[in-house]
Amino acid sequence: MKSVADILFTRRCPFCEEVIELDENECASCRKTLPKPRIKTVAEVQCVYPLPYRGCYREAVLRYKFERQRYLAAQLASYMAKAVRSCLVGERFDLVCYVPVYKDGLLKFNHSKLLAKKLAELLSLPCEEALIKRFKTQKQHAISREMRKSNVKNAFAPNGDYTGKAVLLVDDIITTGNTMAECITALRTGKAARISAVTLCGPARR
Ligand SMILES: [Zn+2]
Repeated sequence: MKSVADILFTRRCPFCEEVIELDENECASCRKTLPKPRIKTVAEVQCVYPLPYRGCYREAVLRYKFERQRYLAAQLASYMAKAVRSCLVGERFDLVCYVPVYKDGLLKFNHSKLLAKKLAELLSLPCEEALIKRFKTQKQHAISREMRKSNVKNAFAPNGDYTGKAVLLVDDIITTGNTMAECITALRTGKAARISAVTLCGPARR
């Protein structure tokens, strides 16, 4: 059982859980093997992601999402910030936004929103709820690839007028890109001038 002091004052490598210094983001050995960010094109938008969805990287994301290790958000978002800076060179953004969850009155934690907030802090940009989810969908990872497209069809709408804005869209994981594509369509409906995207994890191979 971890003590309160251990949880509050110990920083750990997100990938191997070794204790690290407070000013470090990962341990020295995981740093050496960190992969290069990749780009997946979705609906003519570049989506960059720093980590492949496999091995210790996948484990780190799953710990963040399902073991409620929310304190990992800032550490994980720093990889997204690096991927944006190295892959979207020269791009200027007006705001960061995220894939929303459906609001049915229940308090629901949005993993992508927390990552977007931390990323926005690192990039000194505002984080806005630029999209709303119009209806409840099934979890994309729980259904077949064929059903994923229809599951999220028209599920998102713009939450305002984004005329002339350059938007950086955030999600946690990109697999088929169906959710991302629907969000891009909604941002275009909201008249966003330019759209780029970043996720924490994506396909290990293109
Ligand atoms: Zn490590």
